[in-house]
Amino acid sequence: MTRPRFNRILLKLSGEALMGPGQFGIDPETVAGLAAEIAAAKAQGHELCLVIGGGNIFRGMAAAARGFDRATGDYMGMLATVMNALAVQNALEKQGVDTRVQSAIPMASVSEPYIRRRALRHIEKGRIVIFAAGTGNPYFTTDTAAALRAAEMGCDALFKGTSVDGVYDADPKKVADARRYDALSYSRVLADNLKVMDAAAVALCRDNEIPIVVFNIRQPGNLAQVLAGEGTATIVQT
Ligand code: UDP
Repeated sequence: MTRPRFNRILLKLSGEALMGPGQFGIDPETVAGLAAEIAAAKAQGHELCLVIGGGNIFRGMAAAARGFDRATGDYMGMLATVMNALAVQNALEKQGVDTRVQSAIPMASVSEPYIRRRALRHIEKGRIVIFAAGTGNPYFTTDTAAALRAAEMGCDALFKGTSVDGVYDADPKKVADARRYDALSYSRVLADNLKVMDAAAVALCRDNEIPIVVFNIRQPGNLAQVLAGEGTATIVQT
């Protein structure tokens, strides 16, 4: 099936995408590889902004299960996303890509505060804006932050980079004959509880008619291909 070619997109990467072969933290080689993928997509003329998770460093829910106060754990998780944002910024700038980090939790020494109109200007000027600290609120996820920023930035689509090439009816890493969907509706994703993004993020995309494109970020060259409407991916739309 053919997918549309999107101009302005928000790319959501989970913190785990930065771990590489490790079980935790940030692998510089992996981050450099991701930056090269993003730079190649940019060179094709697309406008990009990024939201990066923090699960490779800290997750509020996991901390709460071990006795932390949930809100405190969530703030720590949001701080983890700032570290990831700085790592990706550094790698992108090494590729010659102009970037800005905007944090939902003001952190003047390392980033700009999140200011919607300013972020829009950066994007118009060809910069990649990396949105850090999620929504700035506990009890949310960076998936929801990605949907929110995609709506605020007027993105044509939210690209969710994962370790598989789309959405399946069962876990393809466990079930041999799991079936991949080319296209799905938001309501199907929500009704069947398919693992795309959390329900709040999917609902926000549905309400703002932002297609979600799920694709494999680990396959070199894939981001640029899927952006061009080629390659393998699942598109979630009305
Ligand atoms: N978080 C939060 N509010 C937000 C975004 C993130 O409280 O708006 C916290 C939450 O604790 C979450 C952690 O930051 O577990 C890291 O984000 P997430 O789990 O979404 O990262 P990912 O799974 O994408 O790596």
